[in-house]
Amino acid sequence: MKKGIKIFLIIILILIIIWFFIRLTSSREIDDVTPGISCEDEKKYVEKADILWVVPNFQNYKISENPEWCGEILSLNKTLGMHGIKHTYREFRRENITQEELEEGMKIFEECFGYNPEIFKYPQLRYNKENRELLKENGLKIRTKFSQFTHKVYHCDNGGISPKDYKITDIFRGIIDNRVADIL
Ligand SMILES: [Zn+2]
Repeated sequence: MKKGIKIFLIIILILIIIWFFIRLTSSREIDDVTPGISCEDEKKYVEKADILWVVPNFQNYKISENPEWCGEILSLNKTLGMHGIKHTYREFRRENITQEELEEGMKIFEECFGYNPEIFKYPQLRYNKENRELLKENGLKIRTKFSQFTHKVYHCDNGGISPKDYKITDIFRGIIDNRVADIL
């Protein structure tokens, strides 16, 4: 093997090892937290997660209408972020979200948790330029695909993946199940 190729392969290998350790030690997140999506099977991942990504108005069920749920989520003492507004399929890519719609979503979040959302993650991680600008104008910090690459990410109601599967693939969670999440 040529020396150049050898060095190249060694660098790739080192990068993979570094990536592996970043994922091993980085914070965990769980997506699609909202009263309309069952999170029973993933309960222990909710507990382990550092960030919960909340959908404010999934299927027209405003989280603020369920103060008991809001209280439960708050009592977990986690960082809470906003994950879309209604989380329809590729909501922030296919629809042009208006200022009013975004404000309403943020208001629902605020009424539930008592503070405005500061961080935002797109449903299915898909967006268009206009919507990205709108989020920035409203002071929301956006989580990108890159953070999914470096963090373990779980989903509520994980499309039939049995909790047993988690152990084997735990370290790569968020990358392999992105496609599952897309169905939601
Ligand atoms: Zn989602």
